[in-house]
Amino acid sequence: MKDTKQFKDMKILILGLAKSGYAATKLLHTLGADVTVNDASPYEGNAEAMELRSEGIRVICGGHPDGLLEEGYELIVKNPGIPYSNPVVMEAVRKGIPVWTEVEIASRISEAPIIAITGSNGKTTTTTILYHMLNAAKKQPLIAGNIGTVSCAVAEKATAGNVIVLEASSFQLMGTDSFRPTIAIWTNVYDSHLDYHGTSAEYIKAKAQISKNQHADDYLIYNADQEELRAFAAQSSAIKVPFSLKEKLEIGISADESEIYWNGEPYINRKIIKLPGQHNLENIMSATAAAILSGCDKDSIESVLSSFAGVKHRMQFVKELKDRKFYNDSKATNTLATKSALAAFDTPIVLLAGGLDRGHTFEELRPFMGNVKAVVTLGETKNRFAEFASSCGVQMIIHSKDMEDAVKQADTISQKGDTVLLSPSCASWDEYQSFEIRGDAFIKAVMSL
Ligand code: ADP
Repeated sequence: MKDTKQFKDMKILILGLAKSGYAATKLLHTLGADVTVNDASPYEGNAEAMELRSEGIRVICGGHPDGLLEEGYELIVKNPGIPYSNPVVMEAVRKGIPVWTEVEIASRISEAPIIAITGSNGKTTTTTILYHMLNAAKKQPLIAGNIGTVSCAVAEKATAGNVIVLEASSFQLMGTDSFRPTIAIWTNVYDSHLDYHGTSAEYIKAKAQISKNQHADDYLIYNADQEELRAFAAQSSAIKVPFSLKEKLEIGISADESEIYWNGEPYINRKIIKLPGQHNLENIMSATAAAILSGCDKDSIESVLSSFAGVKHRMQFVKELKDRKFYNDSKATNTLATKSALAAFDTPIVLLAGGLDRGHTFEELRPFMGNVKAVVTLGETKNRFAEFASSCGVQMIIHSKDMEDAVKQADTISQKGDTVLLSPSCASWDEYQSFEIRGDAFIKAVMSL
């Protein structure tokens, strides 16, 4: 960690505990800030709140007290999940108090350079592939963000010999100020989280923070097949490294049926790649570009591509039973992800779909429903998904009671050679605490068939 005095004696309010608020509180307290924590949940039973209070930190639990912002805070660090419509956040913005997420703190204290990955889909997969490549090339990477440890806790430990690979959501990026990754990756953009950001322009603006402070010697790797991202890249000061599946690029990374090309020259033979799916090829291209720019040798890159088989809950192969393959794609919380999953199989598919109703349509899936022979619906969007599937000509549509029932029904109606795919196109929060718990319920049900 840098020897920094910038937070010393600063009066800081941490909004929302959870993992990120807890880590930011501890760090800022160590750096000599005058920290107050405010969390909505009750103090009783809140182990993190109790621990922080025992260390002498002021902790206010059970909601926001009136007049909280009259106490002269110079900075608010909020949990990324707290929306900007929260009354305290709104008041802070009105008063001109900076509102950051802990990612900004991480970037201010880190001695290690940061490679940041954002996008609507593919962040975790790209982050994981890149981490493995850097590791194979002995670049001492540390993984941070949603999949690993909270960024500021990682940055606290990092030295100049490390490189931090940071998965950054739009929620996290929105609360940044001087955050400057040496390499930024933007995988793709799609209308998700509109309930949080309001409009897609606001969503793109939040993600665009990833390159806002980049200099002329930093790199921006982006999806050149999307017009919005080409327009965004044109505004960036960084060196542009486009990736494309549609055209061979003289500068950047691209692919055809047989090769991946780096600056127009064949670089990787696609035969060696283990991870299935065109969408994963995009993730592989952007991770490979970042690995090359970080000085990784080709052998290390190839060794990862020939062994890496995917991240849990992302088109994870679970089991083959009576000549049917079961895949867990619980992380598919939007239609773009399910679209990629459907496109990755050329077998008949029994699709398990549905979940939290955000009011989104499933229309985008229509061109990809050709292989779907049956649908088993789940969760809040049960009826809407059934109507959609029926309008696509799917003959067999079954409502399920729960995941166990859904898997049993799928097993009964599937035949030899079919793929049974959980790819809900919806978030999990109608019935599960997380997509991981939903995916685990699927795995458990498959294993007990
Ligand atoms: P994120 O971290 O952005 O949510 P993940 O790597 O966890 O992304 O993948 C989430 C879902 O999106 C999975 O269902 C996966 O199959 C799908 N997916 C992954 N990469 C892409 C991509 N580049 N384009 C479209 N869909 C993708």
